[in-house]
Formats: sequence, C-alpha cells, structure tokens
Amino acid sequence: MSLVIVGTLAFDTIQTPWERRRRIVGGSGTYCSLAASFFTSPKVVGVVGKDFPAAVLKLFKARGIDIEGLEVRSGKSFHWEGRYGYDPNQRETIRTDINVYEAFRPQLPASYREAEIVFLANVDPDLQDDILAQVRKPKLVAMDTMNHWIRSKPKAVWRVLDRVDVLFANDEEIRMLTHEANLIKAGKKILAAGPHLVVTKKGEHGALVFGRRFVFGVLAHPCEDVVDPTGAGDSFAGGFLGYLDKVQRFAHPDIRRAAVYGSVMASFAIEDFGIERLKTLRPAEVESRFRRFRRLVSF
Ligand code: AMP
Repeated sequence: MSLVIVGTLAFDTIQTPWERRRRIVGGSGTYCSLAASFFTSPKVVGVVGKDFPAAVLKLFKARGIDIEGLEVRSGKSFHWEGRYGYDPNQRETIRTDINVYEAFRPQLPASYREAEIVFLANVDPDLQDDILAQVRKPKLVAMDTMNHWIRSKPKAVWRVLDRVDVLFANDEEIRMLTHEANLIKAGKKILAAGPHLVVTKKGEHGALVFGRRFVFGVLAHPCEDVVDPTGAGDSFAGGFLGYLDKVQRFAHPDIRRAAVYGSVMASFAIEDFGIERLKTLRPAEVESRFRRFRRLVSF
C-alpha cells in the first residue's frame, strides 16, 4: 500500500521545567514520517526554508521516506515554541511562525495521488482540504489538528472532519472542537459528523480508540524520564497508520495492534529532545516494547 503524510517540517523551541532547547528539528510531518518509516515507506508532503538542515532530508531518504513532495523554498521554515509544565500533558503554545507554510498549496506528484492511506497531520485545515482534493481514491483518510487551528479556523477544521475516517486529537482539542466536556459525548458528536474512529490521545495515560460499535483503550508505556513530550501525538499516528499500511487490513484486531504500535512509537519519541530518540531507534527495540505492552495489559 502507500501512505501519504502532509504535515509540518519545522523548528521547535521547547521549554520544559528542566531545560530549554532552541530551534531543534520537529514538526508534525517529521515525527509522523519517521515513526511510520519503521513499518512502511511513507511519502511526505511539506515545505521547508533554506535554513532547514540538509542532514534531516538525508535521514529521511536513508529511512526510505519519499521526499518528492517536499519543497525547499527561500524563506524561513515553520517555527513553533511551546512550554510544558510539571505535568507533561500541560502544554502552552508561546508562538507559532507559519513562515513558508503561509502560501503553501502544493501540487501532489503523480505517485502520491494514488495513495491508499492519507494522513492529514496537524497543519492548516485549508491545506488539508487541498491535499484531499488531489488524491484519487484513498481507502483510509486520517487527520490531526491543534488548538491553533480549532481557534482560528473552526469551520475549515469541521469541513475536513466531514471527509475523514479517523480523527486523532487530544482530550483538550476534542473538548474545544465539540464544546462538550464529557469525552464520550464529544466523541459521539464527532462520529456523527463523518469519521468512523476517534483516537483520543491522553498523553502519558495512553489513548482511547472510539468507534460507533468499538472501543479500545491502550496504555502509555510507563516512562520514568519524559524528556520532551513534543511529537508524541504525531509519532502515535505514524506508528498507527504505518502499521495499517504494512498489514493492508483495517479490521478491529488490526486497529487494536495499530494503536499499540502507535503508543510504542510515542513512548520512544518522548525519551529525548526532538527527533533524537527516533534517529537511534532500532526495529528490534520497537518489537521488544510491543511485547512488553502485551504483558502489561494481559491478566
Ligand atoms: P504533537 O506534540 O505530536 O502534538 O506535535 C508537536 C509538533 O507539531 C511540533 O513539532 C510542532 O512543530 C508542530 N506544530 C505546532 N503547532 C503547529 C501548528 N499550528 N500547525 C502545524 N504544526 C504545528
């Protein structure tokens, strides 16, 4: 099969209670493609400025990530600055510099248009809409979003939501989207709009996969040292969709396994700043943690 991911390739400035890192490589598309590359060869769509490190594009290629849909433009790369509290689930956006993404309306390469799975990672909902209009007949479309877009373009977010099969969002985003405090009621509102599945990411507590007649909970890997929570959600989506792309099936047992692989990939991403841990990660470590997850929940 083939998985197309549209998202940001970015610089992040991260403040945790213990450390601050300036302009390290991040972005929803970056985390998601790297995580998915452990299962399949994703095709990424995005734009970077001339300031983006060539070494990262080289890493993408080495990981089998197709970068034909990636543009390098003059101008600055997307930049996001965020701060975490002692509770790693508490995140505050300090600034978002859209930069080269401002006028980014890509024409998808021909091979991308045949994608069977499309992931509209966290990016401007108008861009998500644009990409969706260019793919021929995907079997599964998933999307993510963030408070920034829900606040600034709520109608556009709902328009995309109407056309996707799976929504990935954290509990705060789901409440913000639906104006509903109870997550089950909120999930039902979203399912009524179109998606078949809502994946509610609950940070260090795992995720709840919620469908019309399906519910599956997955824990997060117990981690003593959460260094940088950034990218956990995107890595979850990358593991989830990368696994589905690999097995080419979307039945309930596959969705359950995909959710566990999602949680496994997220658990690695947070062990170091930015993409550092995903860079050194080996496939055998992914499998070994998958087996540990099974032991964690079997009784
Ligand atoms: P996550 O921690 O998985 O929710 O995603 C964090 C990533 O999203 C960071 O690496 C940021 O560069 C990226 N990001 C932050 N804000 C936005 C935004 N408004 N649109 C697209 N990507 C963003």
